[in-house]
Amino acid sequence: MAHHHHFRTIAQNDLGYVGICSSCGILNVAFQNSLFCLTLDQFKAFAEIMHDRLDMRPFCTTHGKELLLTTPMPNYFLLFTEDELDLFCELLTEVAPVLEAERILALGSMN
Ligand SMILES: [Zn+2]
Repeated sequence: MAHHHHFRTIAQNDLGYVGICSSCGILNVAFQNSLFCLTLDQFKAFAEIMHDRLDMRPFCTTHGKELLLTTPMPNYFLLFTEDELDLFCELLTEVAPVLEAERILALGSMN
């Protein structure tokens, strides 16, 4: 089942990029030093979490990283500033129409 992913960049900014594998459709969402590997459906849910700040807790320190997102690892968390999260959401918004096109193409190739 193992295959080598061939990622094509579909959006990028100063802090990250989104790539899609041309064989399996897996998305690589890279932002700063985090990498999220998501299916199309997972991406939709993920983008919603980020846009709506779902599951994020305020984390008040003097360092400005005020939004805390839990991860499946109990002792590992992601911290964002409001500005970082805005840039991240811009990136996610930019790829939405590309992914919609991918979905339509994928549906077409099944017929
Ligand atoms: Zn792949």
